[in-house]
Amino acid sequence: MKTKYSKPLGDISLESEEWIANEDRILAQQSEHLASCEPSGIRTECLLCGLSLNDAPRFSHRSISYLSCPQCTHIQAEEILSDAASCFDGVYPALEIDLWQSRCNRIYTPKLQWILNELDSSWMPSGKCLREHWFEIGTGAGYFLGALKAAGAVHCRGIDADPHLVARANSFLGKDTVACTGNFGHAIEGSQANIFVSFFVLEHLSDPLPLIKSLRSKPAGTIFAFSVPTYGLSAILESAFGCHAARNLDNILHRQLYTDASIERLLRSIDYEPLAQWVFGQDALDFKRAILKPLLSTYDRKMFSYVEARLNDIMELLQGAVDISHLADARHVLAVKR
Ligand SMILES: [Zn+2]
Repeated sequence: MKTKYSKPLGDISLESEEWIANEDRILAQQSEHLASCEPSGIRTECLLCGLSLNDAPRFSHRSISYLSCPQCTHIQAEEILSDAASCFDGVYPALEIDLWQSRCNRIYTPKLQWILNELDSSWMPSGKCLREHWFEIGTGAGYFLGALKAAGAVHCRGIDADPHLVARANSFLGKDTVACTGNFGHAIEGSQANIFVSFFVLEHLSDPLPLIKSLRSKPAGTIFAFSVPTYGLSAILESAFGCHAARNLDNILHRQLYTDASIERLLRSIDYEPLAQWVFGQDALDFKRAILKPLLSTYDRKMFSYVEARLNDIMELLQGAVDISHLADARHVLAVKR
């Protein structure tokens, strides 16, 4: 499998600044929501590989107990929350058209270009790829489909479980581009698409089995491109610094994280061969945020600005080292059905 490392952190500078501005509010919201959650059970089998979690290595993360599957290393909360408890409004704010477009261009066009470039060298030319039938699992507000349409693709469809996000996506993309359903397995089975994509969605599924079965049922040559958050520096910082709002493993929306081994396990389960991966994250920005927050109250303004500027100088180098060491907070994977 071909591996590409790193992506400029500047691409997400708007989102990063917004996160810093809202940090205290997000942290309070996370604590409040978690306090009101009632667990519905204890996990004894790995949600991904189904094997026993007896003797699994464990750690406490912001007072929640997590296990690392002894077989596939998938990281998962020991307590199971009901799906209703996992709803968390307010994390994804509504965007105006120009901000929506900016997000499509800065964040999702590079993902599409990576997919097209990798497929171009191994599967089919970009021009032909854009004429294929694409299906996005978990479209959110429709950013990737927006980037896909802007690149010239015609056959673009998607699904999402959140009716508000579906309405927003369709308002930008055109009526009926995205259907509202939480039954992803059924929707994938019914789709005639030959390119499936899914960005930061699989980690929300407390039972990924229906999705695994439906992707496994697809004909040989079907493409699946996806991204998942991974256990790396960002998650470790969130375990260590409770005063900083969690972006990676927030105990509510994200109660599981992939690892390189659990991604391999997923690919074996769906019977897809990995063609390429892109390893990059925003761990360095989380590192800066975690370090600066306590200093706000102990350093004067000039000294704080000096430290902030020095940290800014090392952001790209630091993230590059994190990425190449596979400690980045995410993986993008491109795979083909065997
Ligand atoms: Zn497992």
